[in-house]
Amino acid sequence: MKFDLHSHTYYSDGKLSPEDLVERAVEKGVDILAITDHDTVKALPIAQQHIDKNALPLTLIKGIEFSTKWESFEIHIVGLNIDVENSTLAGLIAEQTEKRATRAEKMAEKLEKRGFENVLERAKALANKGQLTRAHFAQVIQAQGAANTLQGVFKKFLVRGKPGYVTSEWCDIATAVKAIKAAGGQAVLAHPSRYKLSNKWLRRLLEEFKHAGGDGIEVALPQQAPSDRQFLAQLAEEYQLLSSQGSDFHFATNWLELGKNLYLPKASVPIWQDWAIAKEQELN
Ligand code: AMP
Ligand code: MN
Ligand code: MN
Ligand code: MN
Repeated sequence: MKFDLHSHTYYSDGKLSPEDLVERAVEKGVDILAITDHDTVKALPIAQQHIDKNALPLTLIKGIEFSTKWESFEIHIVGLNIDVENSTLAGLIAEQTEKRATRAEKMAEKLEKRGFENVLERAKALANKGQLTRAHFAQVIQAQGAANTLQGVFKKFLVRGKPGYVTSEWCDIATAVKAIKAAGGQAVLAHPSRYKLSNKWLRRLLEEFKHAGGDGIEVALPQQAPSDRQFLAQLAEEYQLLSSQGSDFHFATNWLELGKNLYLPKASVPIWQDWAIAKEQELN
């Protein structure tokens, strides 16, 4: 059974509609897909309806990816199996949306000082009904010659210390974990290696996350050195956290695809160990 527990639609910074994303997941042999857009759950009912209507052989896990602030880092916390109707969750989503809007205004102002034009309006048009993210700003200023690649745009303008970067007062880790748990979900620390933390800081982060009631960490990601996967698996064991896997799919590239290159080390305890869907499959 193929699990991919981290993906995005155009309701945040992914390229595909919820319908196209679930279709693609089926095409790529994914059996269980979590949609985890940044600070929004808008794609979920649409994706589920499309699955039902077309009787697609795919189980949708209702998810979200919250941006949090810890020390001076932006740490992402994924929620899996959340009740999207939960009011605590909805309250946090509303707060985060507000923070995105405030940050967007400040970012646009800074970028316009650098000579880019109509930045906010264009970014909003790209985001359409979805969450406004740095990826939208990146596209807007790339089209105006900021750099050749999106990576380049981020590096030159949109990461900490660069002229278009604005710190946002995202909620803290405990608040995100609490909202996810209130909504009946499991809280998973997303892509732990991507924060470029030293081992000492990574351990501090895991302490904090565990203390806040976190359930699991992403151990398997695509394009990952086997040693990194092993290291994360060890950390999961050490902190008694469950292990998750996800592509963090935003759009397909030559090296990244839904469900591709995702597997947990044999000794890992998967985040889905108690999910009904996983148990059913075992019996079959
Ligand atoms: P935000 O949550 O609005 O700050 O936007 C963060 C999103 O921008 C991430 O989820 C990534 O999808 C994207 N992103 C961040 N850093 C980079 C980068 N260096 N290159 C390309 N995309 C990036
Ligand atoms: Mn993203
Ligand atoms: Mn992330
Ligand atoms: Mn993500």
